[in-house]
Amino acid sequence: MAIQKDAYRRIATEEAFVIPEVLEPMRARFENEGYDPDLFFWSKAAAGSPLERRLYDLDDERLQVMDENGVDVHLLSLASTGVQMFDADKATALASLANDHMAEAIDRHPDRYAGLASFAPQDVAGAVKEIERAMTELDLNGLIVNSHTNGEYLDEPEYWPILEAAAALKAPLYIHPRAPSPAMAKPYRAHTLEHAIWGFQAETGLHAVRLIVSGVFDKFPDLKIVLGHMGEGLPYWLYRIDAMHKAFKAPDRAVLKQKPSDYFHQNFAITISGVNWTPALKFCIDAISADNIMFAIDYPFCDSAEAVEFMDSVDISEEDRKKIYSENAERIFNIKSA
Ligand code: MN
Repeated sequence: MAIQKDAYRRIATEEAFVIPEVLEPMRARFENEGYDPDLFFWSKAAAGSPLERRLYDLDDERLQVMDENGVDVHLLSLASTGVQMFDADKATALASLANDHMAEAIDRHPDRYAGLASFAPQDVAGAVKEIERAMTELDLNGLIVNSHTNGEYLDEPEYWPILEAAAALKAPLYIHPRAPSPAMAKPYRAHTLEHAIWGFQAETGLHAVRLIVSGVFDKFPDLKIVLGHMGEGLPYWLYRIDAMHKAFKAPDRAVLKQKPSDYFHQNFAITISGVNWTPALKFCIDAISADNIMFAIDYPFCDSAEAVEFMDSVDISEEDRKKIYSENAERIFNIKSA
């Protein structure tokens, strides 16, 4: 049974774009420096390729593909690894440029786009300024970071000003994957496992667990983290994380006010990006509630029709389908309702 195109407001929450100022130097680095799992990713958007065209476009083909599939809104974000592989000063300037570019597209198509702001963790002071500008002047809907930056993670105290700013501005922080950090990369080289097949979720899941056990949610209780790919495995592991966190105390571990899973329920939401699979979605609804799950396609890397067909037809309640398609995104990312 086909669901009518207009039966739901469909908001897709992990949808990528890029600007040439970011794409071109990353591609050039790949050509000059040889294999790097993150640079390899950029090389896929070769000059003149359909992927490059789809990543640049915010006015034509993207809207057409959205219309063809009944997708109302793309929550846009700069494609991974964003600005995180650039030198600090350059990275902050590029984040501002990309955020301006995205905000202009939202202004041109206010009913079709919302956006997550980029920032450069490697320049903490600049990042805090850009986060404030993006949320207050550009009126964007949250933030995105592509997991580690130069092998470092946001639970480390030097990055707390970023978490503090995100919490204070009620800016949800989407932790998008990238390949495992340098210190954990080597075993993933075998069979090229460092990308979406396994490495992305291992890297991003680690980042999320680090945030939880570090105690940053006791320090910043309003901090909201969003994970793609059905929660990067965390919903499945919550019981075990709680059990082992309790069973084995470690001297270097913070004392938490609550169980690790409590923070996941309160401070996290997930999106389905790239996991169009009934058992996983049903499990996540059971484990973390349909209130904390959002629709996402991962355009232009994943197929819009497949994602929409899955979400239209998966055997869940109509109430949950509506939450996942639009109501949760409207609430969590402050996207105005239609
Ligand atoms: Mn993605």
